[in-house]
Amino acid sequence: MTPSFEVYHDGDISPAPLEGAEVAVLGYGSQGRAQALNLRDGGVSVTVGLRPGSASRGLAAQDGFAAVEPAAAVAGASFVAVLVPDEVQGEFFERDVVPNLQAGAVVVFAHGGPVHFGDVALPDGADVVLVAPMGPGRLLREYYTEGRGLNAKAAVAQDATGRAWPRALAYARALGCGRAGVIATTFAEEAKLDLFSEQAVLCGGVPALAEAAFETLVEAGYPPALAYIECVREIKYIADLIFEHGVDGMRRRISSTALYGGATRGRRVIGPEAEKALREILEAVEDGSFTAEMKKRWPGREEFLNAVRNDRLEAARDEFEKIIRRAESE
Ligand code: NAD
Ligand code: MG
Repeated sequence: MTPSFEVYHDGDISPAPLEGAEVAVLGYGSQGRAQALNLRDGGVSVTVGLRPGSASRGLAAQDGFAAVEPAAAVAGASFVAVLVPDEVQGEFFERDVVPNLQAGAVVVFAHGGPVHFGDVALPDGADVVLVAPMGPGRLLREYYTEGRGLNAKAAVAQDATGRAWPRALAYARALGCGRAGVIATTFAEEAKLDLFSEQAVLCGGVPALAEAAFETLVEAGYPPALAYIECVREIKYIADLIFEHGVDGMRRRISSTALYGGATRGRRVIGPEAEKALREILEAVEDGSFTAEMKKRWPGREEFLNAVRNDRLEAARDEFEKIIRRAESE
């Protein structure tokens, strides 16, 4: 079967665009660290750019990168990877990147959102590409060191030099992603799929369902630590089965009772009301109203984390961890 999108592997990708290149990695968080280390291991020259007071400086130094200010890193580089948090990219890009870009440089983003939703304006004379590894930085690094690769999505938003696409592919290859496959996409498609999937399923729907089910059990008088194990912790086992074998394959591997109960009840939980919510969530992603809302309402990471903290769930988890530790020391 021919897939509906193009996929590129190491053998299809020339590493030449990165030969002799200097890469500025801006930000040393989840993606920044993994990308800088993978590039360096592949023989690419990397300069890490961080603000003077950045908390990431220590870790970069520990890894052997003497970080410089973002502006200086950009000025010395033909590849510039923007790996600071999405919500600060607009301002950061305008202030630290654009004024210092070499003519004909290529800017690499790891998520299409800031460009697609208009936070980041495309700079004249530069290539602007997307290389979005499909997983957390920790795995990008782990897979690389094991000789495997994480899939990535790649796209071009602006091709000033005529070389934007081969440059994007070469960058993805240097991250190890050509070992698994680099999927051609667009900034718009990546931005929208990423937001929708994290809201509807990965970071929204699944945790919300687990929390609601936990509350149902606790309110009915079941011990919170047990409710936590059943409704939250065991997600991993099912997620692993789905990862390895697909949804149908997962169903083949669970008990008949779980199979019957799950298949007859799942769609009661996710019924017409949930389907309507999913369509509305997708619309708000597509028309940019989600992004506008977040810009207006985002109070900063710590404040937001405090506001959404679930103390009952955390207490149940603590209790569960204590039970486990006690059992282990006995
Ligand atoms: P992160 O929060 O882990 O790290 C951000 C880095 O930027 C840190 O070094 C931090 O010190 C620095 N930073 C924070 N605020 C800054 C500011 N105002 N100015 C300059 N630097 C600042 O971020 P991340 O998760 O690695 O995300 C980076 C990019 O990668 C984003 O575009 C994200 O969407 C994308 N991405 C992330 C993942 C992931 O697994 N985390 C996966 C794919 C793509
Ligand atoms: Mg995301």
